[in-house]
Amino acid sequence: MGEILSGEEIAKEIRGELQKEVRLLKAENNLVPGLAVVLVGDNPASMSYIRGKRKACEDLGMYSTERNLAANVSEADVISVVEELNTAPEIHGILVQLPLPEGFTQENERNIINVVKPEKDVDGLHPINLGKLVRGEEGFLPCTPHGVKQILMRRNIKVEGKHVVIVGRSILVGRTLANILLQKEPGANATVTICHTGTQNLAEFTQQADILIVAAGRPNTVTPDMVREGTVVIDVGVNQVADSSRKRGYRLVGDVDFEGVREKASAITPVPGGVGPMTITMLLYNTVWAAKKFNGIS
Ligand code: NAP
Repeated sequence: MGEILSGEEIAKEIRGELQKEVRLLKAENNLVPGLAVVLVGDNPASMSYIRGKRKACEDLGMYSTERNLAANVSEADVISVVEELNTAPEIHGILVQLPLPEGFTQENERNIINVVKPEKDVDGLHPINLGKLVRGEEGFLPCTPHGVKQILMRRNIKVEGKHVVIVGRSILVGRTLANILLQKEPGANATVTICHTGTQNLAEFTQQADILIVAAGRPNTVTPDMVREGTVVIDVGVNQVADSSRKRGYRLVGDVDFEGVREKASAITPVPGGVGPMTITMLLYNTVWAAKKFNGIS
């Protein structure tokens, strides 16, 4: 039976470290790291994430602010809000909450992200930060892949020389994570295989993994027969499945058949309580880092 890798516990450890750092920055440098979140529309899931981010900032003693825009604003309206935040001295990190509402195209999304000042791009999705990652230069790492790396590092799961198989090739998760774990540096230096819907016979690849990371966005993408004994399994997926026994009518599951795969895995992240709490935590981490960097504090 695989060990449970609790993202909640690891997130708590990191937040404890950040809290101390934020206190020190205030006391020694009179500096309060500030995060601004731009929300377009009123998607309930996005609003709930934003509440979580606001509370997390408050708990750490950081400054946070939000810009809420109606769903029918134009690309130019969102860009002008981002530009205002780019020059605001109290803001060190800017996050544009994705996905944008229906009506915004992928091109609109890219145009908006491209305007975020790279030094404040705590989501790590600006082409400059993604380019730095590919080149192996220091920059912001996108929060979810960064959180996965932290889970592995902080639970002493050796990545160097291992075969990491990632299911999913999105910029937000799979493709970026592959680049992170490919770097020739501690906590990485793995052999990485990326699978996607064009992959023929997915199980043939997942069965070869020492570390299997699943970010497909579909429940039961990975079942026990697809995993060999002793694999470390990181489930990034978050899916709502109908459940009339729950007050809200659904429950959250990952992309992996948790109970079945846990029988074979040496360690596995749960959903909820696995990668999810790490994502917000790494956003806070990136914001503190941005504030320090901007002020020349090492
Ligand atoms: P996405 O943009 O929809 O990408 C999904 C990827 O999985 C695509 O590359 C897709 O292949 C691949 N895929 C889907 N079904 C597959 C299958 N049956 N076999 C092989 N590959 C398959 O999703 P995402 O943004 O990466 O997110 C993935 C999941 O992670 C979602 O459930 C999302 O909610 C969750 N997530 C969680 C967090 C967190 O904080 N916990 C953060 C971000 C995302 P193609 O490219 O061929 O379409």
